[in-house]
Amino acid sequence: MSQIVNPSNLEVIAEPTVTPVERIDEVVERATRAQRQWAGLPQRRRIEALRRLAELIRADAETLAQVETANVGKPIGDSRGEVAMVADTFDYYAGAIDKSFGDTIPVDGGLDFTVREPIGVVTVIAPWNFPLVIAAWNIAPALACGNAVIVKPAELTPLSVLELERIFAQVDLPDGLFQVVHGPGSTVGAALTEHPGVGKISFTGSTQTGQTIMRASAGTMKRLTLELGGKSAAVVFADADLERAASASTGAVFGNSGQDCCARSRVLVQRDVYDEFVALFVAATSTFTVGDPLDSTTAMGPLVSAPHLDKVRSFLDPALDIVAPVPGPSGPGHWMAPHLVLDPPREHRIVREEIFGPVVAVLPFDDEQDAIALANDTIFGLSGSIWTRDLGRAIRVARGLESGSISVNSSTSVRLQTPFGGFKQSGFGRELGMAAMDGYTELKNVFIST
Ligand code: NAD
Repeated sequence: MSQIVNPSNLEVIAEPTVTPVERIDEVVERATRAQRQWAGLPQRRRIEALRRLAELIRADAETLAQVETANVGKPIGDSRGEVAMVADTFDYYAGAIDKSFGDTIPVDGGLDFTVREPIGVVTVIAPWNFPLVIAAWNIAPALACGNAVIVKPAELTPLSVLELERIFAQVDLPDGLFQVVHGPGSTVGAALTEHPGVGKISFTGSTQTGQTIMRASAGTMKRLTLELGGKSAAVVFADADLERAASASTGAVFGNSGQDCCARSRVLVQRDVYDEFVALFVAATSTFTVGDPLDSTTAMGPLVSAPHLDKVRSFLDPALDIVAPVPGPSGPGHWMAPHLVLDPPREHRIVREEIFGPVVAVLPFDDEQDAIALANDTIFGLSGSIWTRDLGRAIRVARGLESGSISVNSSTSVRLQTPFGGFKQSGFGRELGMAAMDGYTELKNVFIST
């Protein structure tokens, strides 16, 4: 058993059974048998199964949202939005099943074509910040491509994925096609990353764990998708709609209590408008309510755990110029208010490391070249935003940024239909859109001599 705690009141809300490591062989064997049956089913049956899952998720949406909020502490409105996206993800990849195909390639002496085939058994290792929606981004395309899926949710937040397992049980699927294992990454996760029967790991989590998984899976040459950490920048030029940029930047870094791989935890502002922008950013943050995640007016809940709260607080170096416009609640719970850190030294750890909490560094820059250099001065490359009214500049800077996902005059990073993933140490491989289908298939080439 492991104790699962609600981070907003510290009550124990569940005690799920930890999967014994000795059971992993059996889990993988069941998945292997199920995968063969699943891949052999008529296309129509697989499309209907994914559509049925979407329907059942919608029917149970409120339960799933309540579970997610209780387990992670995120505002209920956010959980509802994420559950809606989970259902849409199953629908999208149901529709992708008969729209993923290979090429015919002109060659001499015959006909040459490619086909996409399932990898086999896929393991999805998920983080605690978006437990259900990130799992779904991988489960749905993996199944659509004809694979079986084993999910290992983060040990702190397994509850919504365990609910999803209950929903899967209501659909007529090969036994073992979708299984959830629960337990520590260092034991249960490690057993899956080393298992010869697992063909692919799709991992979302920290860069450090991503490196461990790369090493552990090298022995069996597993296929990998790694969605790792970030230190994304919002770049605000003097000609931007500053009010809109400030208001969006608030949600972009304090949303999900800053526990977001795409958090714009560096806001770079052109020097001429730095003071004006900071005043607007502070004013926008002062309307950002921190409190009970079940209250639909709450914008920010607690952090996920006490050790994580300690780690985030450790970034608040008293030598820095720090503004905290709203108080965090007192009482039980891992509470922390949003913090803006003004013009810190560019080499400070607050500018360089992923914080994963409600702390943003606001830095001035001089011109376009300086902005690009500063934004790229990081080991990460996940997301970024550009705020400007100059279209040419928007295009130049978007091309200059070393990041997988850029928004102009917007803070969004994720859309179901578009590829999502990192440059540099933010990982490799792409989730979402049709690009995700490539990550769950092997490409086979067939040549027929004429
Ligand atoms: P984490 O790396 O601590 O854990 C992620 C998962 O890996 C958990 O399920 C954990 O149990 C498992 N794990 C840990 N050690 C393992 C091992 N040796 N073998 C196999 N599995 C192991 O990450 P976290 O703290 O849960 O999540 C926060 C991190 O995730 C942040 O760095 C964040 O940026 C990143 N993240 C990235 C994305 C993205 O799409 N790029 C999205 C969300 C979160």
